[in-house]
Amino acid sequence: MRIVVLAGGIGGARFLRGLKKAAPDADITVIGNTGDDIHLFGLKVCPDLDTVMYTLGGGINEEQGWGRSDETFHLKQELAEYGVEPQWFGLGDRDFATHIVRSQMLGAGYPLSAVTEALCDRWQPGVRLIPMSDDRIETHVAVDIDGERRAIHFQEYWVRLRASVPAHAVVPVGAEQSKPAPGVLEALSEADVILFPPSNPVVSIGTILAVPGIREAIADAGVPVVGLSPIVGDAPVRGMADKVLAAVGVESSAAAVAEHYGSGLLDGWLVDEVDAAAVERVEAAGIRCRAVPLMMTDLDAAARMAREALTFAEEVRTV
Ligand code: GDP
Ligand code: CA
Repeated sequence: MRIVVLAGGIGGARFLRGLKKAAPDADITVIGNTGDDIHLFGLKVCPDLDTVMYTLGGGINEEQGWGRSDETFHLKQELAEYGVEPQWFGLGDRDFATHIVRSQMLGAGYPLSAVTEALCDRWQPGVRLIPMSDDRIETHVAVDIDGERRAIHFQEYWVRLRASVPAHAVVPVGAEQSKPAPGVLEALSEADVILFPPSNPVVSIGTILAVPGIREAIADAGVPVVGLSPIVGDAPVRGMADKVLAAVGVESSAAAVAEHYGSGLLDGWLVDEVDAAAVERVEAAGIRCRAVPLMMTDLDAAARMAREALTFAEEVRTV
């Protein structure tokens, strides 16, 4: 079975770990979000690709959900001693090595997809991880600072400001002119099932869908597309997805996120049991819906969610 998953960082990575356990023989291709990418200290940092790679490769900081395990921060401290900004982005010493290798390879002319493949040679994530695009795309967020509307990098909004001010717009800068990375459209056209893990609908999956051709390829794939809600009980399970949903005019509820994707894209949508009342509303939008436990408290819980998604995909399959 060929499964394609559109993934952001933590939510996507933890779901993927469950999926690998639920379907050990499946051929899994992950289309990773690169809208969170940022250039820091002359290095290209790809937080979501790395979260997937480290989580599936066994190098993740489990408690945090991102960054390396067994990490130290000497380099960050030394940079701070020089007064070098930004100091709000946490890059550890082990993590820096990944960004140095990546930046060196990009500088030598390799596209990001080839670099990601090379990095995965070490981590052996057990899935094929492809960035959504080899082109530079950076999500910017429009906010008001000192009474003035300004666009800031997504990481500045998320990490420095902790999404504490209203987002007026979320723009994947560069997406319009971008192309899907090699292998992305092929994987979608050859998929048996396409899954949207409980990743952020705006700045993770939304950004991937903003790459011209990807949304169309999913809609035209003719295979079940099943998503799992990152919103449980009208709030994100982790993080501040409600803030960016508000920016695109979507309420923070499992049903509203399904409607936002729409029946043109989704065939099935899983909501948590606490949101069982949303099932009717989602089905009224033309999307099959079911309520199941959606909290990834441990690997087994994530595997059960993945199994539910695959079973549901078989049910919604229209031949
Ligand atoms: P990020 O790039 O690290 O923010 O990660 P993703 O975009 O892949 O996932 C973020 C989303 O995952 C957030 O909106 C969370 O609500 C959601 N999430 C995290 N843990 C869980 C969980 O256990 N269950 C569900 N349903 N959603 C989760
Ligand atoms: Ca992310």
